[in-house]
Amino acid sequence: MIVMYGGMIMEKGTVDEIFHSPQHPYTRGLMNSVPRMDAAAKERLVPIPGSPPDLLNPPKGCPFSYRCPHAMEICKEEMAPTYKISDGHTSACWLIHVDAPEVEGYIKGCDIDAG
Ligand code: SF4
Repeated sequence: MIVMYGGMIMEKGTVDEIFHSPQHPYTRGLMNSVPRMDAAAKERLVPIPGSPPDLLNPPKGCPFSYRCPHAMEICKEEMAPTYKISDGHTSACWLIHVDAPEVEGYIKGCDIDAG
């Protein structure tokens, strides 16, 4: 499964990895904004604030940086490398970097995916 945003691959993995251990804030945003069969009946959906980027004039850095709840200064300057979470599971997000702040549920310190 491939999750794309702003014309770029944000996360890649099996259906199980993407649904049960998403490692990119956009993927998490998507999961929170769609109805789930396993959710409690009155659970509210959480939309992703903001609008998609203008692909004719894409922003510098991570295309999700203007909507991301975890955006850091580097996110608006430079696109994150693609980190290898496990075989076949990758995420292009600075939160995976070893020096990133701790955010619950994100795996830090993975190697960059050699492709
Ligand atoms: S690279 Fe930065 S802005 Fe982009 S998804 Fe990760 S934390 Fe958010």
